[in-house]
Amino acid sequence: MRCTRQKEKILEYLQATTVHPTAEQVYESVRSSLPRISRGTVYRNLEKLCRKGEAIELYIGGRVSRYDARTGGHGHLCCRSCGLVADVDVPFDHTFHQEVVERTGFKVNGSAVQFNGVCPACQKKEQKVKKEATQ
Ligand SMILES: [Zn+2]
Ligand SMILES: [Zn+2]
Repeated sequence: MRCTRQKEKILEYLQATTVHPTAEQVYESVRSSLPRISRGTVYRNLEKLCRKGEAIELYIGGRVSRYDARTGGHGHLCCRSCGLVADVDVPFDHTFHQEVVERTGFKVNGSAVQFNGVCPACQKKEQKVKKEATQ
C-alpha cells in the first residue's frame, strides 16, 4: 500500500511539471508531501515507472538523467548553457523510422528527438556579454 502511494506521488509530480526534473529534484519535491520518503525509494520508483513505460528517462549529454511523464512522441530542446529541457511537438517522421529499421534490422520500440543548442534567453545573455566585451 505504502509503496503504491509513494509511486503515485512521484508520478503525480512528474505529470504536473514540465521541467524534466532530475531524480534529486523529484526527491526534493515529493519529500514536501511525504517527508519520510528516502532517496533510494524515489530512485527505485523512477526506475519502475520507466520500466513500465509510465515515464521516460532522458540522457542529456554527460549530465544526470532527467525524467518525463509525457511518454508520447515529442522532441526535447536542450540548452547547453542553462540546462533547460523543454518539450517541442514535432510530427513523427515515420519514413525516417522505417529507414533505420530497414538499414539495421533493429527492432525499434521508440525513439526520441533531441535538439541540443542554446535557448533564446541564453542567446540574449551571450550577445550581451559579447557586446560588453567589445566595448
Ligand atoms: Zn539556456
Ligand atoms: Zn518531455
